[in-house]
Parts: sequence; C-alpha cells; structure tokens
Amino acid sequence: MGSNINKPVSMIIFHNAGQLSSYLQSVRKKSQSTGFVPTMGALHEGHISLIKQSKTTSHITICSIFVNPTQFNNKADFEKYPSTLEKDVELLLVSGCDILFVPSVEEIYPGGTGEKPSYDLGFLETVLEGFYRPGHFQGVCQVMDRLLNIVQPNHLYMGLKDYQQCMVVRRLIELKQWQNQIQFHGCPTLREPDGLAMSSRNLRLSPEERNKAAAIYQALMLMKENVKPGSLAELKEKARLHLIQNGFRIDYVEIADAVTLELKSEWNGTQQLTALIAAFIGDVRLIDNMRLN
Ligand code: AMP
Repeated sequence: MGSNINKPVSMIIFHNAGQLSSYLQSVRKKSQSTGFVPTMGALHEGHISLIKQSKTTSHITICSIFVNPTQFNNKADFEKYPSTLEKDVELLLVSGCDILFVPSVEEIYPGGTGEKPSYDLGFLETVLEGFYRPGHFQGVCQVMDRLLNIVQPNHLYMGLKDYQQCMVVRRLIELKQWQNQIQFHGCPTLREPDGLAMSSRNLRLSPEERNKAAAIYQALMLMKENVKPGSLAELKEKARLHLIQNGFRIDYVEIADAVTLELKSEWNGTQQLTALIAAFIGDVRLIDNMRLN
C-alpha cells in the first residue's frame, strides 16, 4: 500500500443505469475523457492491466461487473461462474478505478432476456468460438450494445486473450457507426509465471488441473517456435497431441489469418498468423491464442 499512503482513494459504485448515465453526462460537460473496461468480475491482474491502460489515456475510468446471462450457451457454465465482489472492489480501489458499475440483470435487460436483437457478424459467427458456442457472440453484442449506450465512453479496453471477441466488438462498433465516438484498444494477455493466461475460470481448476493447464501455453509456444512456410497440418497435430497427453479435451487447435480469422492449412511465409486454442480440462473450458509471426 506504500505508494497509496498519502493518496485518498475513492470509487463511486453505481447499480442504476440512469444514475450512472447522468453522472457521466456531467463528466462529459467538464470535457473529461472516459475509458471503459467491461468485465464479468472475479477480477485478476489481467483485468487490472486494462484499468491501468485506461488510466494512462482517460480522465475517468469506469469498470463494469456483470455476468451476462445471454452470452452463456451452457447453463452450468453460467451458474458456476465465479463471483468475488468484495475482493474485486478492493482490487479496483487500489488500481485507481474511478467508477464501478454493478447492474442487476433487470437493470441491463428491463424488457427481459427473451428479447433477442440480431447483429450481422457474418463469418465471425460461424468460425471457432462462433461455431462451438452458438449464440455466444450475439449475447456479447447485446450486452455491449447496452453497456456502451449507458457509458458512452471515449475509449474501450478489451483483452486480446479473447481475440475473436475483440473482432466482434469492433464489428459492433462499425455496425452502430460509433467509430468516431469510441476508440477500441485491444490489450495484451497477462499470464501466470508458468504461461497460463490469467482467467476468472482458472479459479475453478483443481490443484491437479491447474498443474496441467499451462499445456495450452506450451502448445501455443510449440506452434510459434516451429511454424514454417508450407503445410500447417503437422504443426497443429503436434499441438493437439501435447494437449491430449496433458488430459485436455479439445474443441479446436487452429491457425488463422490474424486479420480476417480465416483458417489456414498452409502458410505462404508472409501472412500474419495467430494460433487459437479452446479446450476443456475437467469441466472447465479455457481459451488462449498467440501471434505466431
Ligand atoms: P471477462 O471478465 O473474462 O469477461 O474479461 C473482461 C475483460 O478482461 C475482457 O476484455 C478480457 O479479454 C480481458 N481479460 C481477461 N483475461 C485477461 C488477461 N489474462 N489479460 C488481459 N486481459 C484479460
């Protein structure tokens, strides 16, 4: 706490969307810029790195904690999603976050969660996470549409750990023609010392599962270190084997064009490539990705 000793730390917590909106209107009237970090809570240093990024560019940083029911295609995953609100508030206070928004489901969806707006996400909704989690990105767009309407931030900070989600939210910003109002920032992935990407879901791993979980990072590194022009099949197979040997059940191990997310079976030696993995250890589904070149 040393560096905070003389600094009064305070953070306003809102539960009501209307109250937050009017407060932020007064912030904008003072020509203060705003940065927004949407989360589902169970915060870790990865989330806090987004808060820190926001603080470098914006006068006022807003974080939201909302476990969005409409983006879960698996009911058990939603019900088991970790919640550590008291600790989250502590972490946000220490990081210097100015405003925390913790809405109820009714506050975000006053008309109920049955209303399903439709967003044209094209190819993004059919590939990788879009394919394995049907409806997930529609739910992400639904909640982001609502949150961005309430907060109307100048800057939006999201983690590249959720690579495809970043692409989807950029697409949402285009669809809503918000490009001139909201600047999107994709932020690097923070990792544990053994390489495992920090994630709220890591809290659900048993000690034994936690020991094996870094195999995802190792599989990504294996692809990064061995990628060469030509067929990518053998490389992906090696990464799959490494995961299976460590007890993972795989949804996908893929290599894609880093810009379009088009899946690649061959590399011409110049395209920007990203490797992406989604796999279960026990009943916990983890995702991660890495730029290969
Ligand atoms: P979540 O609470 O999982 O919805 O994550 C909220 C935001 O934090 C999203 O934009 C995530 O991509 C980002 N995030 C999650 N894990 C990490 C991490 N390890 N490093 C950086 N950002 C992260």
